[in-house]
Amino acid sequence: MPELPEVEHAARSLRAWMLGRRVIRAAASPTRILRTQSPRLLAMRLSGRILERVERRGKWLLLGFAPPAGLLLHLGMTGKLVRRRLQEREPYSHVRFVLDDGSVVHLVDPRKFGRATCFRSFEEAARAPEIAALGPDARDAPLTAGLLAERLAGLRRPIKVALLDQRLVAGLGNLHAAEALFRARLGPRRLAGRLGHEELSRLSRAIAETIDFGLKTIEPEGVDGDVEYVEEPGAENPYLVYGKAGEPCSRCGARLHSFAQGGRTTFYCPRCQR
Ligand SMILES: [Zn+2]
Repeated sequence: MPELPEVEHAARSLRAWMLGRRVIRAAASPTRILRTQSPRLLAMRLSGRILERVERRGKWLLLGFAPPAGLLLHLGMTGKLVRRRLQEREPYSHVRFVLDDGSVVHLVDPRKFGRATCFRSFEEAARAPEIAALGPDARDAPLTAGLLAERLAGLRRPIKVALLDQRLVAGLGNLHAAEALFRARLGPRRLAGRLGHEELSRLSRAIAETIDFGLKTIEPEGVDGDVEYVEEPGAENPYLVYGKAGEPCSRCGARLHSFAQGGRTTFYCPRCQR
C-alpha cells in the first residue's frame, strides 16, 4: 500500500515527467476515484493547462496548473503513477494526461480506493478539509522528539495506532509504523502519551531512517522505475519486521510475532521491542 515513500516517489516522478509541460488532453474514467465529480469536469478543468507545481502532504499529492487549476490525488491502496507512450494501453488507468511531448501519464489503480478531485486552483486544493486536517509531515516537518511529544501528549492509545492517525502525524502507514517502532526498540502496545523523552528521540530518528530506507528501496533506478509494493506476489521483502512473523529477529534472533491491532496486522519482536 502506498505510504509516504511511495507518494514522495510519485511526486518526484510527476515533477520529472510533467513540470512545465502542457496537458494536451486530460481524461478520466467514470469511477469512484472521482467521487461526485464527472470525468467531463476533470477534462474541462485540466486540458490545455501547464503543470507548475507538485507538492506532497502526508500521503496526498497536490498539483497546481496554469492557467489556475488544482488537483488533489490520493493513491489509496493500489494506486500508482506511470508514464507510457501515446499508443500504449494501460490496464486499470483511471486518469490520463496526454502531454505535449507525446507521453501519457496515467493514474493506475486496480482496486480503485484512490482519489482524484479537481479544484479551481492549487490554493483551493490545499485548503481542502482532508489536507487541512493533516498533522505535521513525517518527513518534512521534521518530526523531532519535542514535536512528537507535543502531538502524542496525553494519548492513551497504543503508539502503533497513534502513528497511523494522519491527524497526529501525516504520511506513515502500517508498514513504516511497524518498521519505525522496531528501529526505535519500542513495543507497539506502549501508550503513546507515556513515552519518555529518550524513547521519543529514538522514535524520531527511527521514523527518519525508516522513510529514507523506504525511499532508497523503491527508487533504485530513479524516477522512471515502477514501484513494486511488498504485498504484490513475488515482490521481495526488504523490510526488518513487516510481513516477517515467524522469522528470526535480525537484531536478537527471537521469533518475530504479529497480532491484530486497530484493524491492521502489527509485526514486532517480542524480545527487543519494549
Ligand atoms: Zn529482537
